[in-house]
Amino acid sequence: MKRQLVLALCLASMTAAAAPATSVAKSADPSNPYQTYTWDAKVYVPFEAATSVTVECPDPAAAKWVGEHFAAWFGANSPKVKAGATGLKPAAGDEAYAATADETGVKIAANTLAGTRWAAYTLRQLAVAKRGTFKTEGRILPKLSIKDRPHLAFRAVHLCCFPETRIQQIERAIRLAALLKFNYAIIEPWGMYKSEKHPWWCWPDAYLTKSEVKRLVAIGKDLGITLVPQINCYGHASSSRGCTIKHSVLDMHPEYEPLFEPAPLAPASSASYLDGWSWCISNPETQRVLRELIAEIHEDFGNPPYFHIGCDEAFGAQTCPECVKTPHAELAVRHFNGLAEFVKSRGARPMMWHDMLLDKSDRRWAGFVKFGGKDAQSILDGLSRDIVICDWQYSYGNMKESRKDWPTMKYFHDKGFSVAGCPWLNFNTMKPMADYIAGIGGFGIVETTWHHLRGHEWEKMYMSAAHAAWGSPVSHGVSFQRSLRLVGHDMKVTDYRDTGYMDYQIPPDWWIDN
Ligand SMILES: [Zn+2]
Repeated sequence: MKRQLVLALCLASMTAAAAPATSVAKSADPSNPYQTYTWDAKVYVPFEAATSVTVECPDPAAAKWVGEHFAAWFGANSPKVKAGATGLKPAAGDEAYAATADETGVKIAANTLAGTRWAAYTLRQLAVAKRGTFKTEGRILPKLSIKDRPHLAFRAVHLCCFPETRIQQIERAIRLAALLKFNYAIIEPWGMYKSEKHPWWCWPDAYLTKSEVKRLVAIGKDLGITLVPQINCYGHASSSRGCTIKHSVLDMHPEYEPLFEPAPLAPASSASYLDGWSWCISNPETQRVLRELIAEIHEDFGNPPYFHIGCDEAFGAQTCPECVKTPHAELAVRHFNGLAEFVKSRGARPMMWHDMLLDKSDRRWAGFVKFGGKDAQSILDGLSRDIVICDWQYSYGNMKESRKDWPTMKYFHDKGFSVAGCPWLNFNTMKPMADYIAGIGGFGIVETTWHHLRGHEWEKMYMSAAHAAWGSPVSHGVSFQRSLRLVGHDMKVTDYRDTGYMDYQIPPDWWIDN
């Protein structure tokens, strides 16, 4: 029963069959005492043109935003929205909100426009069409009272723009993340950002053009989700998955070979990862090019307050005759801090992955997947504390396991860094990870999605991370479906592939061989 209640509170639609016959006000989860709700699933109240919606917020833009978006979402059946006193008292905090719906109308109270948006999303997700008509003639809401506040202040999804990923899919993922109350989306281009300064640094037909980036950024700004660009400034320099040997630069513009580390003369077992996989960080041209790319893409993204410099999985780094002349830790610290200083000079805070900062042979991190060498601690000790460490825990606690302590996060935290927990498909770990981060005063959570932004995994990644970040027990189900459909309505989709959570229900070539 509780599971269904939380499903409906944060993210979801509600069905009468799943909800309780009587309502009980309570905290949704011990981890978040600021979250309470009550509703009566047997009593629905009107949510239609004649309904009065009152918005109370110190920001006068809040009531205007709700009015405009209700009109877009509900059309001629939209309730009337006005600013005014509600008598509701949201918790402290920029993103807290309170909302009620009863026979007198609907009330929203929040401290900022951000909190007001989350309230509006909750009501939109809970509203269903009035019954008994051919077409929608208005909506109804369960009689309800909600107070909500996020568990973590920084709640991001990490989205990968592969050549195989259509930009419509990225837009859907951004819009859906906002609807599920994530407030940041880190965008990793994978060679799909079309730089004008360095046009060689992308695949042909890169779809993240300046105009498309600015369009997506504007959508995010309106919806309350800030887009943060990422450039891989150490490993992952090929802009392709390592298992493919593809390289966005060396395959088509070999004249830029000096910028990348060559494969070693004595190849390791994973040699296919190594040729050009890492930037050559002793080459001053590398730092210049990366700074110019950072400046260009950061500006296109509207100069957001964060910038992700990647810097993970630099397998076999330091193979060229120049790099080997200098201790790796010295080169790495100079490279990372130089980029961090540059990002700071643009008014943003740098973020980077953590795995080159832990010694993979250190038994304290046994069971965690790491790629750092013996000099990892030297690198970490020399690293700017302005950098937010994104500690990815992709494997540990996978699926059925769970854990309550995260020693690597505590390690970074105790060293003076802000640290974000970054899960992937380890769904069961997200709630305890978020609780742990909140407990140590950590930075936030970054849900990575990689090449799994489709199907049931997409649903579970988004739903598990969203609930964890808002301090609710994790649940899945109808709420994702409804939210995704609302995104499609907002985009006015006409392409079959832009419905549901996979492009095709049957692979297009299936009929040929089967
Ligand atoms: Zn080099």
